[in-house]
Amino acid sequence: MPQAKQTDLKRRALLRNGGLLLAVVGAAAVIPAQAEDDMLSKAAVHYQPMPHGGQHCSDCAYFIPGNDATAKGNCRLVAGAIDPNGWCERFSS
Ligand code: SF4
Repeated sequence: MPQAKQTDLKRRALLRNGGLLLAVVGAAAVIPAQAEDDMLSKAAVHYQPMPHGGQHCSDCAYFIPGNDATAKGNCRLVAGAIDPNGWCERFSS
């Protein structure tokens, strides 16, 4: 196969794969915003920024940790920043 044709095929494959990568990254950026709309409010689950009877968010199955053990994280159910020492009535161990 001529060198120019091989280069053209590689360029087309790169453009095709790059377009696919951009589509995947774009979809990932949209999904959290859509999910946030479907999440529960802190008021709806009686969230409080302190533990309850020894239970706290950092031990909950729904907790998504922040950058370190004391940083606020997120929750798979409840919208907004979540304190690792917080709690709500949806707590699940
Ligand atoms: S479900 Fe409630 S207790 Fe569990 S991480 Fe989310 S806010 Fe915290």
